[in-house]
Amino acid sequence: MIELKNVDKYYKSRFQRTFILKNVNFTVKEGEFVSIMGPSGAGKSTLLNIIGMLDEPSEGEYYFMGNPVHKMTEKDKNLCHRNYIGFIFQAYHLLEDMNVYENIEMPLVYKGVKGKERKAIVADILDRFNIVAKQDLFPEQLSGGQQQLVGIARAIVARPKLLLADEPTGNLHSEQGRQIMELLKKLNQEEGMTIIQVTHSEQNAKYGTRIVNIMDGYLKEGLANVEGGLRI
Ligand code: ADP
Ligand code: ADP
Repeated sequence: MIELKNVDKYYKSRFQRTFILKNVNFTVKEGEFVSIMGPSGAGKSTLLNIIGMLDEPSEGEYYFMGNPVHKMTEKDKNLCHRNYIGFIFQAYHLLEDMNVYENIEMPLVYKGVKGKERKAIVADILDRFNIVAKQDLFPEQLSGGQQQLVGIARAIVARPKLLLADEPTGNLHSEQGRQIMELLKKLNQEEGMTIIQVTHSEQNAKYGTRIVNIMDGYLKEGLANVEGGLRI
């Protein structure tokens, strides 16, 4: 489903290039549930954004379902993102001028799901997420945790082929976090949704069927044995 070949990501300043990702080769098959770990600033979000077509590699090739993303126009990338990808952002990225209901409904509108069915799907997910009472509120009226739940509901409501999740439970309390991880596991196992999550939590990482680590821009398979500890 995903193939990154020799991908570099760097930022250019006047005199130098600052590398974020170096020679990343990364393949994800349909149906996998991959956890990306690594210290802060390692390039995890950058990698997820590239996979989600929200950012692009500086060098290298990216194939999504066999299509060369590195050759696509912005318009095609947007279409591809809308049709196949659900994205849970670390900073929620809800549409501020739309209420909870409308935020969650949006991906179904893009997918062309018609009125009655759309209403039923949104009502069901509001109920499952226990946010029915919040449906008329706007994002700024919600707590961080509530915004995160809305962001998760929006990302999965249209059942994307690929779900990308950047610290999906970072702002939830532990029981809610556990329920969301169970939900991702269920979407992966029962519906075959391909999932890639970025997480700092080893416990959450283990919900995945495969763990990769990014360190200093390089990607390695498996759990790293050193956690970047601070001495303060
Ligand atoms: P992680 O998700 O692993 O914490 P990120 O992918 O967010 O890491 O960031 C990796 C590195 O890239 C960080 O050091 C960050 O400061 C740097 N970075 C991100 N965006 C830019 C940018 N637009 N210009 C320069 N450096 C950037
Ligand atoms: P169920 O509600 O089917 O018994 P779980 O007990 O595994 O499923 O639910 C874990 C969390 O995910 C709960 O908050 C539940 O409401 C929610 N959930 C479960 N399945 C779905 C789904 N298909 N779509 C949206 N939310 C779901």
